[in-house]
Amino acid sequence: MTEGDYILGKKPDREIPADKIGKLELPKEDHQAGRGDEASGRNSPFWVKCWSCHQYLTRPLGPPGEQAYTCANCGAVNTI
Ligand SMILES: [Zn+2]
Repeated sequence: MTEGDYILGKKPDREIPADKIGKLELPKEDHQAGRGDEASGRNSPFWVKCWSCHQYLTRPLGPPGEQAYTCANCGAVNTI
């Protein structure tokens, strides 16, 4: 993981309506790294680093209106 491959989640500075909050997902632990890289590269997830627990999580693709996501690890809301 290098700088620029992820978005740094920010602590929200305002209340975010619940219907605007998506869910971050913990990365799947598959052991297929090195296999099928080209295929997975086409739909590579967006990475978000949680401001609270510093875990890297994946953000679902769209809908674009959602700009806040709940961390699956610690439950903190991250805005991006
Ligand atoms: Zn977290």
